[in-house]
Amino acid sequence: MPPAEAAALCLSLHDVAPATWPECRRLLQMLDGIGPLPVTLLAVPDYHRGGPLERDRAFLAAVEGRLAQGDEVALHGYHHLDRGPPPAGPLEWLRRRVYTAGEGEFAALAEAEAAALVERGLALMGRLGWPVAGFVAPAWLLGDGARAALARSPLRYTTTRQGIYRLPDWRETRAPSLVYSVRAGWRRTLSRGWNARLFEGQRARPLLRISLHPADARHPEVIASWRRLITRALEGRRPLTKRQWIEGLG
Ligand SMILES: [Zn+2]
Repeated sequence: MPPAEAAALCLSLHDVAPATWPECRRLLQMLDGIGPLPVTLLAVPDYHRGGPLERDRAFLAAVEGRLAQGDEVALHGYHHLDRGPPPAGPLEWLRRRVYTAGEGEFAALAEAEAAALVERGLALMGRLGWPVAGFVAPAWLLGDGARAALARSPLRYTTTRQGIYRLPDWRETRAPSLVYSVRAGWRRTLSRGWNARLFEGQRARPLLRISLHPADARHPEVIASWRRLITRALEGRRPLTKRQWIEGLG
């Protein structure tokens, strides 16, 4: 069954920062080769504490060029490092240290700390004149403190791996994101099968989400796989930024 006329595709690029920009640029070139596609760029204000992004003029100019052609910038954590209290048990340890390589920055923060980081991030984006409506927690790990902080923030949406949530009412659109795990060959093979199944399983859903990561750019077969999947998705879906999707909910 073909998807409804209004079916959408949201493309996001995670971990956008000066340090990752060369890889981000390769992925954006792949997308530009498919057609003019709006992308939600998940920018990290101070990625891995390497220095605030506003210090890199060439990076700012590149992102502003993307904004001018229809992309969106969303806030993606602050440092993209998990600095919360030590994990409480083996399951939490697995989730925060192994599954995400220690990058679940908003997994265990108290509300006040989460709110302060979100505020700092929004202030930085404000100084740059970059309009921001969305927040995506690193590794999509959104703890209770971070949820409470977001509900009180001026932001319009957040996402987890399973869906997108309008703020402040938390209206959910269920849309599990396609994503590659590229850290090992077996992960890439599993990801390819997983993404293919997810792609087929969501044919009838109004929203398909695809999440690219800078590390994807290191693997030509991953780039080729994304190109095929995105090209196929566009046969029945129109590309939107996440902000456009949220605003279209009415
Ligand atoms: Zn990330």
